[in-house]
Formats: sequence, structure tokens, C-alpha cells
Amino acid sequence: MSVTKNILMIPGDGIGPEIMAEVKRIMDWVSSDTGTIFNVEERLIGGCSYDAHGEAFTDEAMDVAKASDAVLMGAVGGPQWDGVDYDKRPEAGLLKIRKGLDAYANLRPAICFAALADASSLKREYVAGLDILFVRELSSGVYFGDPRGIETLPDGSRVGVNTHRYTTQEIERITRVAFDMARKRSGRVASADKANVMEAGLLWRQEVTRIHEADYPDIELTHILADNCSMQLVKNPKQFDVILTDNLFGDLLSDTAAMLTGSLGMLPSASLGDGGPGLYEPVHGSAPDIAGRGIANPIAAILSFAMALRYSLDMGEEADKIEAAVDRILESGIRTGDIMADNCTQVNTVGMGDAILAHLN
Ligand code: NAD
Repeated sequence: MSVTKNILMIPGDGIGPEIMAEVKRIMDWVSSDTGTIFNVEERLIGGCSYDAHGEAFTDEAMDVAKASDAVLMGAVGGPQWDGVDYDKRPEAGLLKIRKGLDAYANLRPAICFAALADASSLKREYVAGLDILFVRELSSGVYFGDPRGIETLPDGSRVGVNTHRYTTQEIERITRVAFDMARKRSGRVASADKANVMEAGLLWRQEVTRIHEADYPDIELTHILADNCSMQLVKNPKQFDVILTDNLFGDLLSDTAAMLTGSLGMLPSASLGDGGPGLYEPVHGSAPDIAGRGIANPIAAILSFAMALRYSLDMGEEADKIEAAVDRILESGIRTGDIMADNCTQVNTVGMGDAILAHLN
């Protein structure tokens, strides 16, 4: 009997629809390889949803997301929505779906494929073989804390306020994700905080230490100040395996690590909650500068689908096949424009999809 998986696809804005079309073709291949039926729903998110519905992600779309096994997103945003109010902007759709799915654990692998090591801003020996997993808290911290806003003071000047806030439960659940992931890797976790200057950072460090001592003594835990972590990522990135950190520092540190790998167009991410569907999306944005030209690199979106197969759909073997195919295609010198190098063959978005499918077949 064939298994059915419910998938919500939200391609979004800019290059989102172009790269998600390639994901759909890979999904069809997985279906033919395994007999799994993917029941795919599609909805709008971001600026296109604002244009159609007056909001960046509708409650109806959220209900479909909650009822699915995995949500695959493209990207949101673009300059045409720059003037829209904060609560209706494309990015508001992102925050809404992450919060709505209680997707608190953001997994961002920073992997440097050997074939792309020369595209990094660091020398090959520092990055070839790099494989870091960021575990970033995604649903709390300063991006969500109250009070927040911009107020006018009695003297007419203005003040902008955001609140950096973490509860012990929020720290505990993300810490357990990081330790569990580390057990499947090299068993090392570096926890990055600012315990030296922030009370919320001190609590973070105390809780991580408590959970480590209680339940994960087999894991090698180090605490590192977030500013030092950013320096170490550029100085000697291969010292890290799993990096555990909060929402704000995770945003910055994982972007630094992303750049070490050579291209934004290669990096997938997963956001997981407890029990509900995971949210899978490339790290890059909607790339308005190249949207509509059919030249975007679909690999980040395809590798995000591979993460969905592994973490939400119980199809890890299929994920392995897709990741191996991407590796081989890069080794063979097939490249989209963003990762083009001497003596390689340049293809467009569909051409990259064709090449990966040809390898899978
Ligand atoms: P971006 O990631 O969209 O683009 C940065 C650069 O990388 C651009 O030159 C772009 O052409 C290139 N690039 C990105 N993805 C690529 C791909 N797959 N293939 C080839 N080249 C690629 O970042 P940005 O320009 O800072 O932001 C553009 C818009 O995207 C903004 O509205 C921003 O808010 C939004 N954004 C959305 C997300 C998201 O949806 N998760 C993330 C970041 C930025």
C-alpha cells in the first residue's frame, strides 16, 4: 500500500517560484522511486499574498500548513513592498508561519562542498570539508519579546524598544535539540551567548550547563561568547561541529558561516517544532536582482527538500540520494551562474534541475 504525505508548498516572491518548480520535479522523482504519493497544496506567502489578500500569510493558509506533514517555502520579499507596514510586510508572513508552527529549532547546516571550496572568501584549506550545524532558537528572543515598538517621548525625541527575553523552558527545548543532533554527529556542542553582559545570556549558560550535566554528560560542551564565536568562525571554522545559540546571535553567526561555504544559493535550512510539520526553506532571500530570468540556483531549495525527507517525512535514504547527486553534479563541473568557475559548464535553473534528475535516474 502506498504512503501519502501532505505537503504545503509556498513558493513566495522573486525567485521562489522558479526554484520551487525544480523542487517539485525532484519530488516527483522521489514519488516514482518510492511509490510515495505527495499530496501537494500550494498557497501564497510574502508580498504576493499581501497583493492578493492584504496580508503576508492568511489564517486559511496557516490551517493548511498545520495539517501538512512538511511545509516547503521558497523566499519572500522585494523592493516593491518596502513601504508596506511592518505587520503586513512579506517578512511578517515568515514570522507568522514560524510562530504558528511553533518551529522553534532552526537547523542550518554550513557545508562546504569540496568542489566549491575555491568560491569561499577564505583559503581552501580553511573551508574544504567544512560541516557545521547551527541550532538556532527561532521563536523567541529579541525578535519576539514584549515590550517592543517606537515611542515618542514628552520632549519630542523618539525611542525604539525591543526586549531580549528567554524562559528556562525555551532554553531547555532548543538545548536538547542541539545535544541530540550532536549525538548523531561528532558529539561536540559549542554554545554561544553573551553571558558576560546580558542576564538572559547568563540564564542561557546556566540552563545549558544544567541540562548537559543532568542528561548529556557524553557530549563535549564548550561555552563561547558570541563575539568570539564570530571571530573563530573566520579564523578556524573547522573547530566547530554543532553551534547552539539564540535567535539574534544565530541569525548573524549562521550568515557568517554561510559565506564561508561559497554561495548563498547552496544553503538549506529546517525549522522544527515538537510534533508538528517542519518548515523547510533555503537560507537565501528572493533575489529580486535576478528574479524572472530563470538563472537562480535551485540547489538550496532542493537540499531543503532533502532535509524535509530526513526530518519530517521519514525518508532519510531518499535525502542521502539527493545530497549525493548534488555533490556529483558539482564535482562534474555543472554550475549555475552564482557558483560558476573556470572550466565549468554554466546551466540555468531548469538545467540544474535536469542535471540532478539525470543523475538520480
Ligand atoms: P538575497 O539572498 O535575496 O540575495 C543576495 C544575493 O545573492 C543577490 O545578489 C542574489 O541574486 C544572490 N542569490 C540569492 N539566492 C540566489 C540563488 N538561489 N541563486 C543565485 N543567486 C542567488 O538577499 P537580499 O538581496 O538581501 O534580499 C532580497 C529580498 O529577500 C529582501 O526583500 C529580503 O528581505 C528578502 N529575504 C528573504 C528571506 C527569506 O525569505 N527567508 C531571507 C533573506 C532575505
